[in-house]
Amino acid sequence: MSAPALPATMRAMLLEAPGRPLRRVERPLPRAASGEVLIRLEACGVCRTDLHVVDGELPDPTLPLVPGHEAVGRIAALGDGVTGFRLGDRVGVPWLGWTCGQCTYCRSGRENLCEQARFTGYTRDGGYAEYMVADARFVFPLSQDYGAAEAAPLLCAGLIGYRSLKMAHDPQRPDAAGALGLYGFGAAAHIVAQLARHQGWRLFAFVKPGDRAAMDFARVMGAEWTGGSDETPPAALDAAIIYAPVGALVPAALRALAPGGRLVCAGIHMSDIPSFPYDILWRERSIHSVANLTRADGEEFLALAPRVPVVTTVETLPLEQANEALARLRDGRLTGAAVLTMGP
Ligand SMILES: [Zn+2]
Ligand SMILES: [Zn+2]
Repeated sequence: MSAPALPATMRAMLLEAPGRPLRRVERPLPRAASGEVLIRLEACGVCRTDLHVVDGELPDPTLPLVPGHEAVGRIAALGDGVTGFRLGDRVGVPWLGWTCGQCTYCRSGRENLCEQARFTGYTRDGGYAEYMVADARFVFPLSQDYGAAEAAPLLCAGLIGYRSLKMAHDPQRPDAAGALGLYGFGAAAHIVAQLARHQGWRLFAFVKPGDRAAMDFARVMGAEWTGGSDETPPAALDAAIIYAPVGALVPAALRALAPGGRLVCAGIHMSDIPSFPYDILWRERSIHSVANLTRADGEEFLALAPRVPVVTTVETLPLEQANEALARLRDGRLTGAAVLTMGP
C-alpha cells in the first residue's frame, strides 16, 4: 500500500567516510518494508551526536550513511502490517530506531541498553534527506502545537534532556528540586532549562569562559546565575548535568556539588576524564551517564512538552547546507538548535 505520486528519487546528504564533508546526492526513494513507514521529511535537527558520527568519534557507522535523528515529517506510505498511522500524519523519528525486544534489557523497560539496538542516522539511514523509512514501532506521533522545525529538537535534545533531568533527581527524594547546574548551554540545555524551571529547580548555567552570547541565552531561559565552567557557583548544587563533550568538566562539576549531589553526563561521547581526588566524590556524590532513550521516555516527554510549554529556539538552514550547520555546531556558532528544512 502506498500513496500516489511518490517521486522515484530524492535529495539526500550522504556521509561516505568519516572526516569528509557530506555529499549532496540524488538516490532512489527508500521503500517501506513490512512494519515500516515511509516519511516525507519536513525538517531534521542537527545534533552533537551527528558531529561525533561525521567526525569519526563513534565506531562503525553503516556507510554510506544519511545522518540525522531528529527527523520530522509526514507519513507518505505504510508498509505491510502497519497500524496506528494514516497517510499525512505528522511524526518524528528519534535516535533509537530498533531493538530486539527479547533481551533482559528490552524485557525490563531498559531497551535503551539493548545490545542489538539500531540507531537512526548511525546504523540506519536518518533524516538529512527528503524521505526516510523507519520502523513504525519507533516512530512518535507529534503534537500539532509545533511547527516541523520547532518540533525537531524535541526528538533528541529534548528527549535526552528529559531523561538526563529524570536522572538528576535523587530517587530517595523524587519530588525535591533544588539547585541544578547545566554545563554547556546548547540545544539540550535550553529545553531542559524550561522543564527544570517548570519543576521548580533553581538554574545555574556554566558556559565556555567568556561566551557572552551563551550566558545571555541562558539568562533568557531562566538561569539565575551564569558563569564560566571554571567558576564556583554561589550555591552548592544538588545536581549537575554535563552536555558539553569535555571530560575535564566532570571533576569541575563534582567540586560544585553538595554532598549527596548527582552528576549526570548526558552525551554519547566525551573526552577522557582527568583523575581527581576521591574527596570530591565522597559523601555520596554520584556520577551517571545517560544512554539515549526508551520509547516510554519519548511518550512521556512529548506529552509533557506542549503542556509546559517547551518552546524551542531554532536556526533553520536548507538541507543542502548540512555541512555549514555541522560546522556552526562544532564551532559553537549557534543559539539554540540548528535544524535542516527540506522545503517544498
Ligand atoms: Zn534487546
Ligand atoms: Zn542527538
